[in-house]
Amino acid sequence: MPATVIDGKAFAAKVRGQVAEHVTKLKEDHGLTPGLAVVLVGEDPASQVYVRSKGKMTVEVGMNSVEHKLDADTSEVDLLDLIDRLNTDPTIHGILVQLPLPEHLNEDLVINSIDPAKDVDGFHISNVGLLGTGQKSMVPCTPLGCLMMLRDHHGSLSGLNAVVVGRSNIVGKPMAQLLLGDSCTVTIAHSRTKDIQAITQAADIVVAAVGRPQMVTGAWIKPGATVIDVGINRIDAPEKGEGKTRLVGDCDYASCADVAGAITPVPGGVGPMTIACLLANTVTACCRANGLAEPKGLTA
Ligand code: NAP
Repeated sequence: MPATVIDGKAFAAKVRGQVAEHVTKLKEDHGLTPGLAVVLVGEDPASQVYVRSKGKMTVEVGMNSVEHKLDADTSEVDLLDLIDRLNTDPTIHGILVQLPLPEHLNEDLVINSIDPAKDVDGFHISNVGLLGTGQKSMVPCTPLGCLMMLRDHHGSLSGLNAVVVGRSNIVGKPMAQLLLGDSCTVTIAHSRTKDIQAITQAADIVVAAVGRPQMVTGAWIKPGATVIDVGINRIDAPEKGEGKTRLVGDCDYASCADVAGAITPVPGGVGPMTIACLLANTVTACCRANGLAEPKGLTA
């Protein structure tokens, strides 16, 4: 039987719809408009595209979007000063500093200067600790999106064997914590893991967050398993014409889809969920800041 395609684009549209509904209620019932501030330092073209689409979608769900574009040579003191002002601004409920930062800026210092309650990326050390100890936190957007899709597909994840390939702070590690929080038995694999294929072959869920195009093939997957492909890699596509490229995941879609029970495509899988979860985190942060009930199903 062909694998069920987990449609992240449609799922993300649903999440954004839920966020928009909640924003309308916050405005009508409490006169509150959630606000998201995005800080971009420098002119990295990919970051500019992300920031633009984040701003557009923030406005589409009825929230306030504030963009701070700073020169590439902005000093650490000036950046920290801006974050300080956003931390104390009552109209701002979420702060996101677009990564990567230029080399002269200390990324850890900058991220840890954000008020953890406004840290909608979930990268502040306090949020990492809260997530790791199973407490209420701001959850990193990409793994949160993966968790939402997995919960939707499986219902309960309890007792399932999950393998996360990749141990980055922004995807692999928080993904593993979230799966553990939902009572999966979790293995984290990485570049030093021995016989990785034997490990993934025993998994009910494989989450690939590696950054290596099409590394995970169908031979790695247990028949009927669920495959979540976080990877976004651009490769040459001569079949589309000279100089053309296309996006692929960390999984070889065709061979994995032959074996898996369900799979996320690239593009149209995890990617759209990341921004949807950023918006979800902002509305959650706004509710928490004002002592209001937070929307159901929009966080871990
Ligand atoms: P990263 O920081 O580069 O981490 C990659 C991880 O993969 C590392 O832990 C590395 O292991 C592991 N790895 C590398 N080669 C491996 C191999 N041959 N076998 C097993 N593990 C290997 O990457 P990331 O930021 O987590 O991102 C991973 C992918 O997700 C990228 O394609 C990125 O573009 C994509 N991404 C997508 C979204 C989205 O919105 N969909 C968001 C974030 C990232 P070591 O630790 O041992 O080096």
